[in-house]
Amino acid sequence: MTSMISQTSLPQDSPAGQRYVSVYALHAGSIFLPDSDVFEDSIGKDGGLTVPSFAFLIDHEVHGKFMFDLGLRKGGKGYPPAWDETLIELKVDCSKNVADLLQEGGVQPSSINSIIYRYSKACGPHLHFDHVGDLTPFPHAELIVGADTAALMQQTYPGDPTSLWPEWPAGQKVRYLHFGDADAPARPIAPFHSFARALDLYGDGSFYLLDAPGHLPGHLAALARVSPNAFILLAGDCCHNRQCYTPGVRLVSRENYHDIETARDTVERLKRMNGEPNVVLVLAHERERLEDSMPLFPQRLNEWVTTEIVRKRHE
Ligand SMILES: [Zn+2]
Repeated sequence: MTSMISQTSLPQDSPAGQRYVSVYALHAGSIFLPDSDVFEDSIGKDGGLTVPSFAFLIDHEVHGKFMFDLGLRKGGKGYPPAWDETLIELKVDCSKNVADLLQEGGVQPSSINSIIYRYSKACGPHLHFDHVGDLTPFPHAELIVGADTAALMQQTYPGDPTSLWPEWPAGQKVRYLHFGDADAPARPIAPFHSFARALDLYGDGSFYLLDAPGHLPGHLAALARVSPNAFILLAGDCCHNRQCYTPGVRLVSRENYHDIETARDTVERLKRMNGEPNVVLVLAHERERLEDSMPLFPQRLNEWVTTEIVRKRHE
């Protein structure tokens, strides 16, 4: 599959007043990831690592604030009981959730306009509870999810006691998004650099959603433009360790990816985008970023991205 990847260049800044977004990383809890779920060459072996679950606050100068993921739930509590075994197995640890962290940093959860979930479908346990957090502190936020989620929400907990998905809070506004959607303000772009499909969320080149399936169908990544011709690539769960994308010698494990061929194809696309000198990649569980002194909210990532780009050029 990988031999079919074509590549275009990343869109340049618009000379007619380019818009940028501010990006902030929130460390919204940790989980234990067994190596056998991360690396193909670790299948059948013991061992693993405690990794962060990052969520991201994005601030757009016109459209305001939105969240890209919501991390874990506080104390690992409030999930449908179908998650119970997984929560113990993955040693969920979350003393402060996204709403707590935002408040500590001076941002009121009520000021968040929208929340993007990177997943559009559920397929099996222990895959995605670590990013959906708690919607209740965000009463004004519109939830943006893949169009496939509509079917999923037909069977929710507690109506269906075995469901992995809680029903959404009463009155939750939901926007279903799909690639190929001609509705403004989401503009489809295909192809986009090494990826087959992307959406220019605000139509101004500041934030692109990338179709990045494999870990789950409908899994999304995002590319944010943070300063003149500088990007941060929020790669989510495309892979679960840096060694899978740089130097990229370790393959992702078939034990943790819904469609292993597609997942590896997506990692290949990721590696190519990361090959651009003006792109800095961060995975949702990239523990090395904590050691790299990546600044956490309330400090923003934009200036750090610029420094990382300079460092990358000198490598
Ligand atoms: Zn995850």
